[in-house]
Amino acid sequence: MAKLNDGGGSIPNDVANFYSDTQTKPTRAMRETVLEAAVGDEQKGEDPTTAALCARVADLLGKEDAVFMPSGTMCNEIALYIHCWRGDEIICERSSHIVNFEAGGPAAFAGAATHPLDGEHGRFTAEQVRTAIREDVGLHLPETALVSVEQTANMGGGAIWPLAQLQAVARTAKEAGVATHMDGARLFNACVKSGVAAKDFADGYDSVWVDFTKGLGCPLGAVLAGSKAFVQRAKRVKQMIGGGLRQSGFVTAACHYALDHHIDRLAEDHALAADIGRAVGQLPLVETLLPVETNIVIFDIAPEGPTAGEVATQVREEGLLIGALDERRIRVVTHLDVDAAAGERLCNALKGALS
Ligand SMILES: *Cc1c(COP(=O)(O)O)cnc(C)c1O
Repeated sequence: MAKLNDGGGSIPNDVANFYSDTQTKPTRAMRETVLEAAVGDEQKGEDPTTAALCARVADLLGKEDAVFMPSGTMCNEIALYIHCWRGDEIICERSSHIVNFEAGGPAAFAGAATHPLDGEHGRFTAEQVRTAIREDVGLHLPETALVSVEQTANMGGGAIWPLAQLQAVARTAKEAGVATHMDGARLFNACVKSGVAAKDFADGYDSVWVDFTKGLGCPLGAVLAGSKAFVQRAKRVKQMIGGGLRQSGFVTAACHYALDHHIDRLAEDHALAADIGRAVGQLPLVETLLPVETNIVIFDIAPEGPTAGEVATQVREEGLLIGALDERRIRVVTHLDVDAAAGERLCNALKGALS
């Protein structure tokens, strides 16, 4: 597996960055496509490269329309804003991005409360949704407006929701008149691993988005899809918060390149993560390892071992970056800028720190 990244930036190239798949750098070939990009005013709908990307992603996701956004977080926040009234509730998993990593956005922006469920590796069941949906709200209970899922579940260790489970959750929501949203930051990882088409995973979800800055390796961008009416509203809210763009084809050319060249190769990231997971699972001071399903490896260090922060610092000295999620939990993420040799270096360094 060749190392695609030819560098630049503050992280030296001899550092193997397993901290996050968000930190990939555009490859030379991706950078070159940008030179030829046709551009126009995105805010007016006149950037041809961006319009083509939105049409392409809408088709991949089986939705009527789509809109380009600067980030995945903006896709989530705008979708929640559209689906909820102030005071409503959003059913989601406790470890989800909207609960933990969007600066309280659902409360501040949509004005909605999250109703977090304790799932299994970031996934919950239709039965849990049925129980959580408020019925006969009367004067006192908040109204359930939305069920939100994450495919793959990031803090669940990149866990894939099985298609049947996603469909059952969506059906349960719909039966109660509740809207559905899918955070598909790593949806393509789930597709490549499971062989299920993106539009099948997204079926039954009123809004869904994919991120171009995770395993797809783009410098920025995400695309939010849904019905024509939903996307029209999303464009207005995007404008409201200053997200209207100008010559965005300069960025979306890279996104087209990623759809052409960086999806199938996600299988390599999954294989490398599986290898790292196997090695980590054998270390005496590793207490639990979440099942490794895609490109994320999450494990907990036993109480008698060093802290996660200490391990991250130790491997950093060997030119390896990993994430300490809390006192004991570590996350390792594979992507197009780390290869098998880097994976071997990481396994050796972790063996040194955790044996
Ligand atoms: C990264 C991520 C986001 C946010 O995406 P950005 O493009 O970084 O704003 C949302 N949800 C999940 C599950 C993510 O992993």
